[in-house]
Amino acid sequence: MNNNSKKKIFLSPPHMSGNETKYIQEAMDTNWIAPLGPNVDAFEKEIANLVGVNEALAVSSGTAAIHLALILLEVKQGDVVFCSTLTFVASANPILYQGAEPVFIDSEPETWNMSPQALEKALQDAANEGKLPKAVIVVDLYGQSAKMDEIVELCNQYDVPIIEDSAESLGASYKGRASGTFGKFGIFSFNGNKIITTSSGGMLISDDEVLMKKARFLATQAKEPFSYYQHNECGYNYRLSNILAGIGRAQLEVLQNRVERRREIFSIYKRELSSFSGLDFMPELVLTRSNRWLTALTMNEEVSGISVPQLLEELSNENVEARHVWKPLHMQPLFDGNRYYSHDENTSISEYLFRTGICLPSGSSMSEQDVYRVCSIIKKLISEKSHFPRVNAL
Ligand SMILES: *Cc1c(COP(=O)(O)O)cnc(C)c1O
Repeated sequence: MNNNSKKKIFLSPPHMSGNETKYIQEAMDTNWIAPLGPNVDAFEKEIANLVGVNEALAVSSGTAAIHLALILLEVKQGDVVFCSTLTFVASANPILYQGAEPVFIDSEPETWNMSPQALEKALQDAANEGKLPKAVIVVDLYGQSAKMDEIVELCNQYDVPIIEDSAESLGASYKGRASGTFGKFGIFSFNGNKIITTSSGGMLISDDEVLMKKARFLATQAKEPFSYYQHNECGYNYRLSNILAGIGRAQLEVLQNRVERRREIFSIYKRELSSFSGLDFMPELVLTRSNRWLTALTMNEEVSGISVPQLLEELSNENVEARHVWKPLHMQPLFDGNRYYSHDENTSISEYLFRTGICLPSGSSMSEQDVYRVCSIIKKLISEKSHFPRVNAL
């Protein structure tokens, strides 16, 4: 039974600052209703300054940014690209757009992100086969940076460029340096559910000014500089609208508040729930700062007495939106037959995280009361189930 009388709590809804209309109005007043304009230029500069890179290119989505990065790294039909397995499908779809073959790399337990150990094995095998990947796509899941020192060192050793998929981790940092800035390219997403949003949009970042000039060209239909329309190569219509960039500028003004708030929400969940055995919150690696885009935790059913599907159902009955942790891409029918390297021979961390992991509502607009409401639903379910312990839990 769905209890619709209770206010719906969404997983991660858009949270406007109030200043968005000012930038939109400016665009209207000056008739800059185009996939370029002053808001686009300013938004790019503001992001580049914030994270500390030379160049940023505002594009229509995070997916488009990943696609452009692969094109710039000359990924073509028959090439191999390594990618984190525990992620949203958009991390890997652009590999297919290029006709290349994804090889999936498992997570490790301390960040839930790419396992350097599995990556090393995959790189060794690739080197032995004489076919190194053209790129490694490393995801910073739920706002937590991957083990970038280890990953960068391995990729340097084999001279393979990194694309850092920081779609979920804008505002996070690793050893004091902004998430997204550790590879040849980084990408951000401003989709409606992300920590800041333009409704739909993304950003490609890099220090390589030559390649970024090329990215700008390719994202604008590959128009050659002639007085007439001249095209020598295949381009894309990937630029961000000046209206949406205006929303992005207003959102960026409050990014730090949004990170603080998401971290607070995480702390409340953790404080309220970590005394229950069997519940383990997603860790934060030492010397990193997660933006805690989504509060994620695992539940050991044998110990806690509740399973992820049970809790999801209970939350849904109470009009609360929660989700499974991403289903690993190597388990998706879409990628049937693609290779996969697990953390070690006997342990697939991503599969464990998928089986036991849940993401709780984490929107920065959530009230204290909303967070406690979610906590009390979870507490109630655990206490009910613990009256009937499973036989194998005794
Ligand atoms: C959201 C997301 C993307 C895609 O971004 P869009 O802007 O929706 O195209 C890519 N990778 C990850 C990890 C994401 O969460």
